[in-house]
Amino acid sequence: MFFYMPTKVYQEKDVVINKSEEWCILGNRALIVTGRSSARANGSLADVIAALTSNKKEYVIFSEIEENPSVDTVMRARDMGISNKVDFVIGIGGGSPLDAAKAIALMIFHSGKDKDYLYTKGSDEALPVVAIPTTCGTGSEVTPYSILTRTELLAKGSIPHKVFPRYALVDSKYLGYAPVSVLHNTAVDALAHFYESYINTNATDYSRMMVEKGLKVWARSKDVLEGKREVASSDLDNMMLASSMAGMAISMTGTSLPHGLSYPVTVRRGMPHGMGVGYFQAGYLREADKTDRDNVLKWSGFGDADELADFYSKVCTAEKLDEEILILSAEEILSNEMKLKNCPYIVDREKMLRIVGVN
Ligand code: NAP
Ligand code: ZN
Repeated sequence: MFFYMPTKVYQEKDVVINKSEEWCILGNRALIVTGRSSARANGSLADVIAALTSNKKEYVIFSEIEENPSVDTVMRARDMGISNKVDFVIGIGGGSPLDAAKAIALMIFHSGKDKDYLYTKGSDEALPVVAIPTTCGTGSEVTPYSILTRTELLAKGSIPHKVFPRYALVDSKYLGYAPVSVLHNTAVDALAHFYESYINTNATDYSRMMVEKGLKVWARSKDVLEGKREVASSDLDNMMLASSMAGMAISMTGTSLPHGLSYPVTVRRGMPHGMGVGYFQAGYLREADKTDRDNVLKWSGFGDADELADFYSKVCTAEKLDEEILILSAEEILSNEMKLKNCPYIVDREKMLRIVGVN
């Protein structure tokens, strides 16, 4: 068995400011990496700037990370980092800026390499990364994964390099600014990480411990997602904590079939990540070992897979996907040994079509 979690995690209110003397020691000039607007709107960028300024650190800002970040955007940010001689990287936002920050930190460290290095096995050394999540889904602040889109290949996937952030600074106040759709989709992404980590060939007692506790934390705020009561600040705390715990679980196991199935759907149909992975959860669970399925459903507050499917259609309001993309996703994953390897049950074409909902 194996347990490795090198990221120092703080989850508390105003953590970016309150712990600034500690995390600002990482360097003298930071590259701050954000999406186009949310980090300005939810106060996270202002907190980072205040923290850096009070600790007499310099910074430059790259605020052009798009959803499902592309290799080309990563390379533009890397150029900015190199020309400004930065020595650490701060990612602020959802999974897109956080994943991009890791790849940028890798490519600044290996400044002599071109973009092919992203997909070449080699040294994982990177500049230190500080990750400040503002959504409650990816857990990227505690995972070593960086998932990038290769636009010209219509392909999305994890780079082979593993870059754990040095610090994860988790403050749920930023999540309070997220639109309902982002809150819902990302909470479903965290749920998917728990399910796919538990029902996974690589699952261990360590990873399953994280899933069991994390699903119970997630379930405390399930009724908020269903619109049964108003969101309280304790719900935002629960969702952020669950998201980080789910990230720790997939750091140990990886994800499984639904994540692989979702990538073509995101790239070709523009479906948001959480909505895409949520689409395949009920199908994935229905084919799994009964005891495993009953465990995860019970801990997350569902009676059976049909209840989960109802919850998903209410909370994510996804359009039904067309048969062409479902079959394409199924075929792609049937030829992806890495993803098939993580699934603990044998999947033939017929079973895969059942999982994606084509009968
Ligand atoms: P995202 O793509 O980072 O952001 C989605 C949207 O939410 C953007 O429009 C963003 O605006 C906005 N937003 C983010 N935080 C907000 C806040 N607090 N208030 C208001 N708006 C906010 O979404 P995500 O679902 O978190 O990340 C998805 C990406 O993560 C995918 O590429 C997925 O493959 C990857 N992922 C990574 C891992 C991992 O382990 N590394 C795991 C699962 C998924 P701005 O663009 O203006 O910021
Ligand atoms: Zn995910």
